[in-house]
Amino acid sequence: MAENEQKVALVTGGSRGIGRAIALRLAAEGAYVVVNYAKNRQAAEEVVSSIEKAGGRARVSGFDVSDFDTVQEEIENIVTELGGIHILVNNAGITQDTLIVRMKKEDWDSVMTTNLDGVFNCTKAVARIMIKQRQGRIINLTSVVGEMGNSGQTNYAASKAGIIGFTKAAARELASRAITVNAVSPGFIETDITQNLTDEIRKQYIDKIPLQRFGSPEDVAGVVSFLASDEASYITGEVLRVNGGIYT
Ligand code: NAP
Repeated sequence: MAENEQKVALVTGGSRGIGRAIALRLAAEGAYVVVNYAKNRQAAEEVVSSIEKAGGRARVSGFDVSDFDTVQEEIENIVTELGGIHILVNNAGITQDTLIVRMKKEDWDSVMTTNLDGVFNCTKAVARIMIKQRQGRIINLTSVVGEMGNSGQTNYAASKAGIIGFTKAAARELASRAITVNAVSPGFIETDITQNLTDEIRKQYIDKIPLQRFGSPEDVAGVVSFLASDEASYITGEVLRVNGGIYT
């Protein structure tokens, strides 16, 4: 039997970038994947059709992770339809970069509510189900920026550092029910988020990365897949870095 044959996985922000690669990977390993998105339904549907073409099972589910009530309802609907959720990947995230002196309250709030409240909202809804199942894997996407800081990203760094604290606390809380909670901390990965960097800034980053390249979404998906697998059943509260050595 494939690794995740009987499992349902919910990947938030599964329509693009890292989330897309995670959705494809978990589906290739046999999971039924729910591909969440916020705005980009077409991209999410393309992920589902790629999964189905490869013989996998998936469906889209559009909701804004920052909207507490909607998240509770949508996750309830998924469980009613599919019978459970065994893997939650809290991947949805945004940036709204600017220096503190220029940062508007809306820039702060939008990043915090999507990146950090989103993790709480989805984890809260799923934890109840996983506790009943006495089984579950929760994997949260943090960032190297949450660990080392970055000028122009105080909102993003705070949200991602918050995810690390949340992960460690939730891991302790849920461990007795055989639910593991871990974080994956990517460095600079080739996605829409890093697409906006100028060539000069890209070069400056690459000069600082010991492995001398940006990572691929698949580099991150492989680590998420490991944390979701039986091989990782004794790992919880951990932060696994996938950053080419830029921060160790
Ligand atoms: P991306 O390419 O910009 O994709 C972001 C995804 O999140 C999209 O699927 C988007 O859906 C979804 N999303 C955004 N806001 C949402 C909301 N409110 N509710 C539900 N879904 C929402 O981003 P990425 O680069 O793959 O990043 C994925 C995660 O990895 C993020 O948490 C990011 O912080 C983290 N990360 C990325 C990097 C990097 O270098 N790329 C490095 C470290 C950490 P739509 O398609 O509908 O907009």
